Amino acid sequence: MSEMVRSIVIVGGGTAGWMTAAALARFCGKGWRITLVESDEIGTVGVGEATIPMIRNFNQALGIDEADFLRATQGTYKLGIEFAGWGGRDDRYMHAFGLVGRGLGLLPFHHYWLRARAAGKAGPLGDYVLNNVAAYRNRFAHVQRAADSMLPPLPYAFHFDAGLYAAYLRRYAEARGVVRVEGRVVDVERDGGSGDVAALTLADGERIAGDLFVDCSGFRGLLIEGALATGYEDWSHWLPCDRAVAVPCASVRPLTPYTRATARKAGWQWRIPLQHRTGNGHVFSSAHMSEDAATATLLGNLDGEALAEPRMLRFTTGRRTRAWNRNVVAIGLSAGFIEPLESTSIHLIQTGINRLLDFLPNGSVADADRDAFNRLTAFEIERIRDFVILHYAANGRTGEPFWDALRTMELPEPLANRIAMFRANGRIVREHDELFDVAGWVQVMVGQNILPERWHPLADQIDDAQLDQFLTTVATAFARDAERMPDHDAFVARCVATPQ
Ligand code: FAD
Repeated sequence: MSEMVRSIVIVGGGTAGWMTAAALARFCGKGWRITLVESDEIGTVGVGEATIPMIRNFNQALGIDEADFLRATQGTYKLGIEFAGWGGRDDRYMHAFGLVGRGLGLLPFHHYWLRARAAGKAGPLGDYVLNNVAAYRNRFAHVQRAADSMLPPLPYAFHFDAGLYAAYLRRYAEARGVVRVEGRVVDVERDGGSGDVAALTLADGERIAGDLFVDCSGFRGLLIEGALATGYEDWSHWLPCDRAVAVPCASVRPLTPYTRATARKAGWQWRIPLQHRTGNGHVFSSAHMSEDAATATLLGNLDGEALAEPRMLRFTTGRRTRAWNRNVVAIGLSAGFIEPLESTSIHLIQTGINRLLDFLPNGSVADADRDAFNRLTAFEIERIRDFVILHYAANGRTGEPFWDALRTMELPEPLANRIAMFRANGRIVREHDELFDVAGWVQVMVGQNILPERWHPLADQIDDAQLDQFLTTVATAFARDAERMPDHDAFVARCVATPQ
């Protein structure tokens, strides 16, 4: 490896590859050569349409205009995810972005809600979450928190066509000097001394050398696994779904500003409304359901005509044991995969890119840097894994073998502790900068009927009348404010109709 890392080669042109290329093009201006190799013949995974609010930071960092982005990607707004049939067959709740209620003194709102609920004086938790209230009314607006307002902001993400997003970012990256090479990588050359990857050979014989390689080649992990045999930690004993069948269907109105995840017999089905179509997929466990039966379930539960042949995707949930090995950094599906229940994969691409930029080597790669990168990456994905497992572990679908097994499985210790602590006294302790916040954990726990036996003792500091008034004021204000927001359809239509 040369003294100074100045040449970065990205393998793969899916969402991960082009997000990486665009970010490197934006931040590594002079003196860096960025090359992206992709193979049209192999293609991309072709799914991945729902995001979480941090995607906006990525777009903003690149200077991407929101309306332009929505136009280019057929995007819509997303305020949260509705979970139907998880806590019980007829239950539904929303994990909405943003705060639950508003704070009062030291405590998170849900402690007051628990006290009021015990007295029979509280509505469903979702009545106190502005995003939830707006989402179920199909409303959307850009709401910032006013200094004198008791209203929280309305954090939002997007639904979009990931293929169109990759194409958009490709234009962005190529305009800023990224060189795209079309071709299939057939060989990976290692440096005899260091063992680092030295160059790639394409099917037409072209050789592409580099200092640092970013593996965005998808599930196959062409460099990180194919060349370096890094290893993969398999989490299927906790998350046994190993297939997804996906199909787009004709769009129906209204455009709901939320993703829906409906539990099925051996998995769950997603519904993601875009402007021009609705994305659908059925994630399932092949040990519990055949591919044909899963496809039939999906096709039998569409709200419009199917627009393409269903596509089957096969995966193993888990993570690459080291996301950075030698001079190869894995970003995207090559680094690991957790099913899209909480829309976290594109986010993990984004944080992988942030971390790569943080740890960008100035010369040769230090072991300490690589180790820190890998530690942070592992912590982040393990906590997301636990959050996703929670949805399965706390299911109320008794009598269905898939769900019965998940409800009784042994949990990862941090998750088991977290559930025990919440059940005992309603506390959630967010550790380090893990992705999901207290509001997220509380909504899923309560939504799936994990209800604490007690609340924080300081919630008893106000009297019953004050408590009643506090909750009523919050719910009334949220309902009134949501009612004043425009329809989501109308908001999107206005946004995409006005070229900036
Ligand atoms: P890919 O899209 O597979 O791209 C791999 C690239 O590598 C391609 O360009 C391919 O041509 C190239 N390549 C591979 N081998 C070679 C070779 N030998 N030579 C040259 N090029 C090569 N994420 C979300 O955030 N939200 C969601 O709602 C969501 N839903 C999902 C649903 C499912 C069923 C799945 C499987 C994933 C979902 N994801 C979701 C994840 C999301 O799709 C991926 O994180 C994202 O698309 C990134 O994929 P990728 O770029 O890593 O891989």
